[in-house]
Amino acid sequence: MLKDSYKYKGLREILVAKLHQSGIRDKNILEAMLAVPRHFFLESAFAEQAYEDIALPIAEGQTISQPYTVAYQTQLLELQPGDKVLEIGTGSGYQAAILCQMGMDVYSIERNPKLHMQAQKLLNELGYHPHLLLGDGTLGWPEFAPYHGIVVTAASPGIPKPLKEQLAVGGRLVIPVGDLESQQMLRLTRISESETKIEEFKYFKFVPLIGKEGWHEK
Ligand code: SAH
Repeated sequence: MLKDSYKYKGLREILVAKLHQSGIRDKNILEAMLAVPRHFFLESAFAEQAYEDIALPIAEGQTISQPYTVAYQTQLLELQPGDKVLEIGTGSGYQAAILCQMGMDVYSIERNPKLHMQAQKLLNELGYHPHLLLGDGTLGWPEFAPYHGIVVTAASPGIPKPLKEQLAVGGRLVIPVGDLESQQMLRLTRISESETKIEEFKYFKFVPLIGKEGWHEK
């Protein structure tokens, strides 16, 4: 563990109490959010704001999701410890750290080389060892499929087919789908080999998912 991991513990407790009030009831998620030092995942200028419930800038014009959004997406996955989970959009690595802290077998893909490298370094320093890949997450990571859970942390124009195909039977895909201004959180559950069901949840605003099965770069 890095020095200063225990710093801001009081602020984390307040944040977790707020998340609980907002409807996050999965104890494993709340405990993980209490344990993971979010301030390490931000540039130092923003460390003081790490425990406010807001999205904040990270490098390369990207953002670290708001804590509520991380908790909300994770809760929709309905995971059990030991489940294999794929994240699309490693970004700062915070969501991946939460999943590791919850005891999941974590795979995460990032398209930006700098963010991928920074997250790799920080997560290892904090003692987390998810499998990280630099590449286009809209294609999934077929080598390790199927996954019990897949979480997309960037705004998608639709549900990428490869992600659907890489879900285990009984597995869930949580993805914000819409235009670039606003996206609705969807949860696709693979009921059997051939059947899926889709449920609709709240609206959010994410940075774009750019890739073959996402938005195309101009
Ligand atoms: N989960 C992150 C939030 C990251 S923001 C966190 O906890 O900090 C979304 C990230 O998705 C950005 O880093 C962006 O570079 C990345 N991204 C966008 N399109 C992608 C794609 N096709 N494959 C992988 N990563 C992608």
